[in-house]
Amino acid sequence: MTDLPGHVSAATLAVHAGRPPHDPDQPLNVPITMASTYVAGGDLEYGRHTNPTWTAFEETLGALEGGRCLSFASGMAAITTVLDLVGPDSVVVVPQHSYTGTLLMLGDLELRGRLTTRLVDLTDTAAVIAAIDEDVALVWLESPTNPAMELADIPAIVAAAHAAGTRVVVDNTFATPVLQRPLEQGADLVVHSATKFIAGHSDVLMGAVVVRDEELYAVLKGRRDLMGSIPGPFESWLALRGLRTLPLRVERASATAAELARRLGEHPAIAEVRYPGFGAVLAVVLAGGPDAADALVRSTRLWIHATSLGGVESTFERRRRWKAEPATIPAGLVRLSVGIEDVEDLWSDLAEALRGV
Ligand code: PLP
Repeated sequence: MTDLPGHVSAATLAVHAGRPPHDPDQPLNVPITMASTYVAGGDLEYGRHTNPTWTAFEETLGALEGGRCLSFASGMAAITTVLDLVGPDSVVVVPQHSYTGTLLMLGDLELRGRLTTRLVDLTDTAAVIAAIDEDVALVWLESPTNPAMELADIPAIVAAAHAAGTRVVVDNTFATPVLQRPLEQGADLVVHSATKFIAGHSDVLMGAVVVRDEELYAVLKGRRDLMGSIPGPFESWLALRGLRTLPLRVERASATAAELARRLGEHPAIAEVRYPGFGAVLAVVLAGGPDAADALVRSTRLWIHATSLGGVESTFERRRRWKAEPATIPAGLVRLSVGIEDVEDLWSDLAEALRGV
């Protein structure tokens, strides 16, 4: 792959990492390599172990997060592979408002006697630290949390976990490496639902894990290759194409989200705005409760009522429409994923719909 100058910024890395070398007749972009197997005698061997299109994606996301990246079939495939690191009888500390899929997977593993979870309130750093003792094999962080929008004090929790000999993983899906690089803050692993901002166009499911430790990388790669939770080459190509514009998209959508958060905070139909001050996701609690929230998501013409987030198009949903969402998430909470459309168009559409709720 191409050789980059040291210390280039995220905007430059996103564009230039993971490209073929600048040699005559090389394509500028890595092709989609559709191959289940390769002619023997080289390094690639078999399509469950290696694919040059994944490698280009992994090099680029790895460069942005500051570690070595492994791509997966989905965010949940990445999460499950990381959870598989902990031995039987171990304890995992996890925020009570983590992404529902993460909580469901932990619940399932607990039911089957694979581990024990210790739920914590992420906003209470002292309580999170107090929950970390010698029984804890992994501290799971998600910051901001989906959809409660709570933030973790990553450096403080990492210090306490490392003092107890425990690894810390951060689900960085919401912040993206453009706004938060947990490995630089001492975390041991970063996981992503690349389905969201990384790929960025609501057309692909993919996941990723990024680590600095070479041994840990080898263990995770071994697990992924045996479990077969690998992405398809076309998905990897789409995700890499999306990744090229990640800094631009995140910058634009975050500026719009901050402005919408400000305006929504002054709107009489909105009881509460949850916006951590950065990023393109926010949550609002409707003064009129779940009925008003349901009416809102049915009444817009630009905002699309859909689950998931991180696409170029603005989407929103009432999270408690899902049975698995914890009861501590307000029933009238709507999570908004801000896209890259014009801020005034997005605001008019929302304001018009809010008039009717
Ligand atoms: N982590 C977070 C924060 C998410 O929001 C999601 C999906 O919504 C996931 C992980 C799971 O990712 P995927 O749907 O790509 O499996």
